Amino acid sequence: MQFRGSEVAIAPAVQNKLLRAQVISIEQLITLNERELRSLPNIGPAAVSSILAALAESGLSLAADPYEEYECARHSDLARDAELRSYFLCGSCRDAYVQLALGDRSPQWVSGERVEGYCGHCNELREVRLSQWFLCGTCDRVIRSVGRGLASAKFVTSLWADMFRGMPELSLREIDPVRLRPQVRRSDVNRVATADFVADDMSGSALLGIELKTGRSALPEGGIGKPMSKFQLDTTDCDDIRAAAATLNVPVFLLHAQVIGRAHAPTERYEGVGLWFARPWDMVEHLEAVRRRPRETRDAAYFKTAMFRPFAEFPAYVNDAFRADLESMRRDGFPILYRR
Ligand SMILES: [Zn+2]
Ligand SMILES: [Zn+2]
Repeated sequence: MQFRGSEVAIAPAVQNKLLRAQVISIEQLITLNERELRSLPNIGPAAVSSILAALAESGLSLAADPYEEYECARHSDLARDAELRSYFLCGSCRDAYVQLALGDRSPQWVSGERVEGYCGHCNELREVRLSQWFLCGTCDRVIRSVGRGLASAKFVTSLWADMFRGMPELSLREIDPVRLRPQVRRSDVNRVATADFVADDMSGSALLGIELKTGRSALPEGGIGKPMSKFQLDTTDCDDIRAAAATLNVPVFLLHAQVIGRAHAPTERYEGVGLWFARPWDMVEHLEAVRRRPRETRDAAYFKTAMFRPFAEFPAYVNDAFRADLESMRRDGFPILYRR
């Protein structure tokens, strides 16, 4: 038997492979899509690319795959779990999504219907529209976490102003705001470890730093719902906290904010309902384990939640015990936060 379609320059060895796989002509070949071609016996990646090249030379191509993977708008690659993800956004936040994170070449669909509701990014009550992009699961989580993080930073700023009303000499300044950004690999960035906030004293110099983590769950003593049983923090985050403390030359405290969603149908509003702090000196003694996170390549440190105190106790701590901790840092350095 001979492969029919000699006008297309497919190498004889590859033609034989096609014949053995019951593909006997060019006409039959181009009814297949690339996924189907790859699934044929004995057709490996090299054969596929030589077939594609030979077809292209003759102005032909394989069939389109009706089940082709979608390209994730954020990490710009095909992904099996990329699917239409929906966000209610105000006009300026939709522009920010496009300009800062998703690019304007990715398919975007925006509903004609205008809804009075909470923007999923700025968390303001505005005229919003349902906006959709193809995103993979990871990028969808990252993008959504930015909106929650913005709400969390506002929550902390306003709670701080309330709690430290009697101590106006200690003012909070956000130095590493949460923001949308395109996907970047960790190794691509010259990361400068810095805290999310610093508290300045009267002279304007930093007295302490704050690293803010945000989640849906409560910790013991406060918040809404059942407290989480352990607190997990990536070891790289622990390393960043130490590096930030070294850069700023002041202690950096870990804060956990509980931010939950409340329905304002069809939208959702983020609301901060709990805030806790951990003294860095208390962390390592509450360490339970350092383990690889499930289904990921990152290590996490697991802490007992008893290392956290309600944030309402923070002003008293800063007034009473902080000076001694600061001196101990000047003397012995910033404490280690975990050990393997
Ligand atoms: Zn907005
Ligand atoms: Zn992605």
